[in-house]
Amino acid sequence: MADENLRELNVGGDPGTWDGSESELVVRSWQEGVDLCSGIYQHLKEYVPPVFCSGSEAKSPEENQAYQTLLQTLEWYLFGENPADGFAKLEQSNSSSQLCGRVFKGGETTYSCRDCAIDPTCVLCVDCFQNSVHKNHRYKMNSSNGGGFCDCGDVEAWKTGPACKMHEHGVSEDSANPASQLPVGLAERTQQLFTIIFRYIVDMLIWTEDKELPLGLQPREKTDSYFCVLFNDEQHSPEQVIYSLQRSLGCSQREAQNHTTLIDKEGRRAVKHGTLQSCQETKLEVFNITNSVFQSPLRVEILHSSVVSHQTFALRLLSWLNQVVSNSAGLRQIFCEVVLNQEPDSNQPCLISKLMLADAKLWKGARKVFHELIVCSLLMETECKRLFAVEFVTHYKQLQLEFVEDDHDRNVSVTAQSVQIFTVPTLARHLIEEHDALKIIVETIIELFSEHMDNGKLHFQSYSRDKLFRKQMVLYDLKYVLISKPPLWTDRQREHFLEGFKTFLRLLKTMQNMEPMSRQIGQHLEIEPEWESAFTIQMLLKCILSMIQEWCASDEQVLLRAYKECHRVLSQCSNECSQRNARKQLNTLNMCGHSISLKRYLVSREPVSIHLPLSRLLAGLHVHLNKSGALNKLEEYVPSSEFQVEKLMDYPLRCLVLMAQVSADMWRRNGFSLVNQVFCYRNVKWREEMFDKDVIMLQIAASIMDPNRFLMFLLSRFELFEVFSKSSIPRNKDVIQQTNVLIEELLHLIIIVIGERYVPGVGHVKKDDVTLREVIHLLCIEPMPHSELAKSLPENENNETGLENVIHQVATFKKPGLSGHGVYELKPEYLKHFNLFFYHYYKSQQTKAEDEQKKRKKQSNSSEALPPPLPPPFYSMFVKVINILNCDVLMLILRTVLQRAVDSTGQLWSEAMVQKTLHLICMALQEEKRQLEGGVAEEDVNFDVYLKATRVGSSAVNAESILSLLEKLRGVQQLDAQKDMIIWTLQMFETVKKLREKSSPCSATEAASQKTNETTQDKDKAERKRKAEAAKLYRQKIMAQMSAMQKNFIESNKHLYEKSTEAPKQGTVRTEVDSTPTAEDSGVALGPMQGATAAEKITLTCILCQEEQEVKTDEMAMVLAACVQRSTALSNSRTRTITNLGDDCDPIIMHPDLGCGTHVGSCGHVMHASCWQKYFEAVQNSTRNRLHAELPFDLENGEFLCPLCKALYNTVMPVIPQQAQNLDSKDAETVAQILTLSRWLQNVAARLIGLNASDSKEKESNLIQGNPIARKDPVEFRSILSFGVQSPIKYSKSIVEMLLLFATAVYRVGLKVAPNEADSRVPLMAWNACAFTIQSIENILTDEDKVLFGSLPDRQGLSLKAVLQFAASQRVVASSRVIQQHLTRLMSVFLPHLDVEDTWSILDIDFFHLLVSLVLAFPSLYWEETVELQPSDISCAFNNLYLFHLVTMVHIVQILLTSTTDCPMEQDGEETEESQSAAELYETLREYTSRSLEYKPHGWYLWHCVKCGIVPFLRCSALFFNYLLGVPPPEELSKDSPEGQFEALCLYLALPTNLFKLFQEHKDVVSPLLQRWCSDSAVQSFLKGERATVRYPRERNQLMELPEDYSCVLNQGSQYKCSRSSDDETKNLALCMFCGAMLCSQSQCCREEVNGEEVGACAAHAMNCGSGLGMFLRIRECQVLLLAGKNRGCFIPAPYLDDYGETDQWLKRGNPLHLCNERYKKLERLWQQHRILEEITRNQDTNQVDFGFEWQQF
Ligand SMILES: [Zn+2]
Ligand SMILES: [Zn+2]
Ligand SMILES: [Zn+2]
Ligand SMILES: [Zn+2]
Ligand SMILES: [Zn+2]
Ligand SMILES: [Zn+2]
Ligand SMILES: [Zn+2]
Repeated sequence: MADENLRELNVGGDPGTWDGSESELVVRSWQEGVDLCSGIYQHLKEYVPPVFCSGSEAKSPEENQAYQTLLQTLEWYLFGENPADGFAKLEQSNSSSQLCGRVFKGGETTYSCRDCAIDPTCVLCVDCFQNSVHKNHRYKMNSSNGGGFCDCGDVEAWKTGPACKMHEHGVSEDSANPASQLPVGLAERTQQLFTIIFRYIVDMLIWTEDKELPLGLQPREKTDSYFCVLFNDEQHSPEQVIYSLQRSLGCSQREAQNHTTLIDKEGRRAVKHGTLQSCQETKLEVFNITNSVFQSPLRVEILHSSVVSHQTFALRLLSWLNQVVSNSAGLRQIFCEVVLNQEPDSNQPCLISKLMLADAKLWKGARKVFHELIVCSLLMETECKRLFAVEFVTHYKQLQLEFVEDDHDRNVSVTAQSVQIFTVPTLARHLIEEHDALKIIVETIIELFSEHMDNGKLHFQSYSRDKLFRKQMVLYDLKYVLISKPPLWTDRQREHFLEGFKTFLRLLKTMQNMEPMSRQIGQHLEIEPEWESAFTIQMLLKCILSMIQEWCASDEQVLLRAYKECHRVLSQCSNECSQRNARKQLNTLNMCGHSISLKRYLVSREPVSIHLPLSRLLAGLHVHLNKSGALNKLEEYVPSSEFQVEKLMDYPLRCLVLMAQVSADMWRRNGFSLVNQVFCYRNVKWREEMFDKDVIMLQIAASIMDPNRFLMFLLSRFELFEVFSKSSIPRNKDVIQQTNVLIEELLHLIIIVIGERYVPGVGHVKKDDVTLREVIHLLCIEPMPHSELAKSLPENENNETGLENVIHQVATFKKPGLSGHGVYELKPEYLKHFNLFFYHYYKSQQTKAEDEQKKRKKQSNSSEALPPPLPPPFYSMFVKVINILNCDVLMLILRTVLQRAVDSTGQLWSEAMVQKTLHLICMALQEEKRQLEGGVAEEDVNFDVYLKATRVGSSAVNAESILSLLEKLRGVQQLDAQKDMIIWTLQMFETVKKLREKSSPCSATEAASQKTNETTQDKDKAERKRKAEAAKLYRQKIMAQMSAMQKNFIESNKHLYEKSTEAPKQGTVRTEVDSTPTAEDSGVALGPMQGATAAEKITLTCILCQEEQEVKTDEMAMVLAACVQRSTALSNSRTRTITNLGDDCDPIIMHPDLGCGTHVGSCGHVMHASCWQKYFEAVQNSTRNRLHAELPFDLENGEFLCPLCKALYNTVMPVIPQQAQNLDSKDAETVAQILTLSRWLQNVAARLIGLNASDSKEKESNLIQGNPIARKDPVEFRSILSFGVQSPIKYSKSIVEMLLLFATAVYRVGLKVAPNEADSRVPLMAWNACAFTIQSIENILTDEDKVLFGSLPDRQGLSLKAVLQFAASQRVVASSRVIQQHLTRLMSVFLPHLDVEDTWSILDIDFFHLLVSLVLAFPSLYWEETVELQPSDISCAFNNLYLFHLVTMVHIVQILLTSTTDCPMEQDGEETEESQSAAELYETLREYTSRSLEYKPHGWYLWHCVKCGIVPFLRCSALFFNYLLGVPPPEELSKDSPEGQFEALCLYLALPTNLFKLFQEHKDVVSPLLQRWCSDSAVQSFLKGERATVRYPRERNQLMELPEDYSCVLNQGSQYKCSRSSDDETKNLALCMFCGAMLCSQSQCCREEVNGEEVGACAAHAMNCGSGLGMFLRIRECQVLLLAGKNRGCFIPAPYLDDYGETDQWLKRGNPLHLCNERYKKLERLWQQHRILEEITRNQDTNQVDFGFEWQQF
């Protein structure tokens, strides 16, 4: 891209003002002059100020001029010839680079490879990724913050596949010295020129106000021309800046907006040009306004215009340099040398450092160009990168200090470049070894934190959140430099690393014991102390600490020396503390003949801190020592005399005691701050370097100390010593409760210290074993999705958890359904590893896991005991920890607990306590068993738990043995739940006993005890069996009783019972059709053969009052909740602007593209009209009182939520039963003979004319004369009535009311107008809504391949019927005259000259809409002024038949004209009767269109087209007549096979299967019509190809096709360029899923004004595309935005799943995503079934967060 730009600039331009020859002249004068620098400066002085004088950095025409005069001259100098030639030569000699180096913009998607990247900061751009091997690896997607660059081609960044296909053949930059390959003259000139201009750039950019311009640039005379320059900051919002500018400059809003946008983008902008004085006034003005209104002034500076010009030009030069060096590796190398060159004997830093140090003072635009230059030059090549890195590290501290004070985001700070330097492993190690990088970084942290220091410890009391955040960035740098440890250590490396390590210890020392807490007694803590910052830092330190340990562990010498240092600093810390407590006396404690002396300390009384990083680091190093076997060399470094393990363990122990006391509720007065800290201490993000390490420290102590002394120490710190040493028992209930919890916690801790060996180096385990165990325990709680598992596992520095390595071993994957996510289920064989007291369980998790596991055991009918799993053996020195299990003090503790439980009189015991005791006993026996099984002789087995536990008086004189206590425990009732566990423990005793007998001759006493033991066990078994039997019998008895009662009940309430099984609770439909039809089922719905139906009987239950009612026309109305909405779901021309709305719209005809229709939906939940009204009013009243209540529905527009299903509705519609249809077949036959189609049409014409004439008498004669039909055979105006009339049905007042209400709602919503029940368009909208609703139902049925009849659920059938009956009953709502007028207009399609102006072309009519309107309007012909009449059943049958035949014929013509053009010429089809008739009809049409129909397709093809094209219409018509009349359809239409469908449709609709027979049969009537239809001008122009029209069958709408792989979607997004926007910022792109339009959501460029209001691109687009509804895929966020109207919307996950069956909104996890077809279909259905609005309300209801959005801004 860079190259192209250059060439463009070269070729273009205005040669008139300045051409090459002049440049040449200037260059010659430079070369001839003495000093090149002054020559160039002279030129700049002359030309820069006039050229860049607008003070703006935006591109303008003057840009070209500047290029000509200034840059081209420089280029002439550089090449010594025409620059175009020079560049061309350079390009030739230049080979393409191996590095991609593409700089990311904010929001751009980046890719990393989890398999191959050295660390997660190594990323690829989209193009490189798509061309790389990593596409098929475990990649991650991420959104860039901007500023970083693509690492493609960097061999140090990737383990494999370092370069993509585009870059793999590039030449490595390091292969040769590229500068040496340049022509000598060029190299020399480049060096000279770059030196001069880069110095000029630096001088100008860091120019400060009080300085004069540099020598050689000062203008001859200083003009009074100044600029007022406003600078960007991150404190003021754009609105604030706009406001201030408008007021201070007096400019327009648009102007102010323009300034503000540019200030934000470029970082500064000259907002005023004028004299010094006027600028000063403006500056003062801005200061005053911003200072008084916003309390913080905006930064404004006054700069002389020549300064502004030079600065602007300097910036332009910087970009120019960037382009020039990216063109040639040689030039780049020279450039790097120039800017890194430190002048000899000068203590000034090199040029690049100078600029770097000024970075924080530069404005945003300048910084961006500068950083890009760094990336494209200095970082592109290893040696330059190294030199630059050294400069960077040298100034590191100062840069960071300035960054903290800076008010710009980090991505525009030069400090952000650290990631490019420190993440290169070799470079990082070099910097540590040679330039003390580690030390410098840690020192920088210490210095940055110095202001938080209080008495040598960190303390974050009051601090600036933003500044602390900036300071934390240094910790990331620390992490980066530690990413890869040296493969081989040199002495120099050791020294420098340890130097850095010592500094690091200094940092940790300031954190050891920081922010201590004291227990609040009496009153609550008043102010919650600050705790978060310390934990945030701890979290960042976690990775660093573990990496430092890894570094230490990789070299024995380093490890030992680091350990020594750490120990020294930790001892210092403890000594400082103990000095404060020097007065304290040593206290000696005795128990079981053992004693310990220690200083008194009470966690509950004295300060205690959670932060102990030094202790924990030491623990970590100790484990490494143990693992490497270097522990035995420790003596040389830390003499055992100095190693006081009790002191070392004291602080971690206090911390653990604090946790126990918090559990015991002793710290409840310390508030939430403590609760949160306790939570974090054990949370997965911290625990590795907090809780886990404290446990290890205790294990270290236990491995060194005498076990009895160790336990006594624990007892003392837990403040439980007296509870076990004395028999005095506390009385206070609270104290007892506390003590009980503390004992439980103590036992738990002992279990943990002995049993938790899953740390490599503590136990014999590997890393994967640890993860495996974590996963097992998580899955023991419940099956979990991948993301939740990953979240619950600790991450290493590369954000990896190791989950993938083990998950398939232990779990099986269960796929997700349509919603929800896939989960992993633990394989049953791993259940035996379950440890109830797993140390990473929170309490709630433990309870859940216990319940789950017990439930599982119960189901499989096995013992419910959850014994401890066998732990892995301890590693080396840690082996001694298990001695605790065998020691006297533990025996005493266990025995005491059991004794108290057996006595069960006192309260100092609990079930949980016993449970843990049993667990410990089992652990001890397991250990003994393991030793016995190890094959050692009994004398060598040092474990004798068995003996101790069975011996009487083992711990106290005459005390009972543990074994006998256990036997007794079985009788304790409160411990029923533990019974299985007790039995299990007893069996364990038995096993060990047998093992002991095997290894030693059995003694008589033991054998005896064994016997008793056995008998008790047998007894127990028998007892159990008996109880189980009894329970079984009892259950059977109860069951028998129950079923007898049930039978009785059914008998006595038979009718009730049947009803309730058929119609479950909620308002389900129950339709009963009388089973005695008066005529046989003919399967025909129209004409003389019409089948008979009985009056429909509908019984419904109101969901509000639960009462049942039969629906009758003369009773109170029952209503359905209904939702009317405009819909484009069927639209065949999405780009056409929707016009059928508003006050001027005439909705009589629907356009065949179905651009926008009116849809009625319902959940089918029925209410009494009165119940609904009460409900609606109640909602109104309850919300009226709530101010600013955010409701998901709009009461003003009649919206409410269905009381049952909570879907959104905006009106209700009444349920009206179908009327009986009964034709006398004889009558029908007679009528059929007389009433032919032509006769009927004459009657209708006469009637219409007559009715119209009665309005205006004088017209009558004209009309009759003018009408050919009327003239030929004048028909009496009332003759149509003679075929049968009847009186209409009366509707109850309540039904009429509801009809009116619903009609008005349909009218209001359908046309988007104010409600007006008297408007003449009300009935039209009712018919349209009916037709459109049927069409969309037919569409869905076809789409889902469902049968026409019988596949609609009952409730949908009920609501469709209601819509139809409503449309049919319009005469009740509207005046008969209005409907007659509509009918006259509609009939004009068939009856010409009816005095109506409308002449629609048949290409512009949707004939199903026309059919519905005609059929439903037709009864109005029968109304007389005085009597209300309606056609009799026979009349109706004929009317419907003829109307339907007429419409069918015109539709066939429409299809023939529009949809038969692509005939395959060669292919032959079968010649049938149909195809012949089709060809004949076509020939006629050709005649009538004056041969405009050019082709003459085959007959079979025409028939095929007609058949396909007309089926949707026929299906809709069948649905329509069925729901209108209730005539049951032929069976074929409810059968799954497609066979016979067409024939059945024809039968039902009384059509000949050869549709063309209609034309033959009614030739007399049709011929003139055909002639008229064909001669229409619209038809003519269509046939000439001058206009387009819809083809049949209409295309069915589908959602836009989406790529299978989500990265392709992202790719598409990144390639999209918005034509409205000039800047290249990445946009928030949204893809319209209806039409595929790409939109810039939430972006200024694509906002639009709609109805005088500015809205976002999506909202504006949805207005037309979806008639207010929208479904957009937000590409960067991977979620679907649903919009409805102005203020409704929600986000749902995109239909993409990762391999674990989970969606990823916001791409937070970034796993590869693939399209899920089921979910995609689900979205499509949401659209086609008109359920988007419903989905939004449902989401808003469950997801309150969405309320915050202003949806129209998207
Ligand atoms: Zn790339
Ligand atoms: Zn590449
Ligand atoms: Zn890879
Ligand atoms: Zn009711
Ligand atoms: Zn409902
Ligand atoms: Zn669209
Ligand atoms: Zn745009």
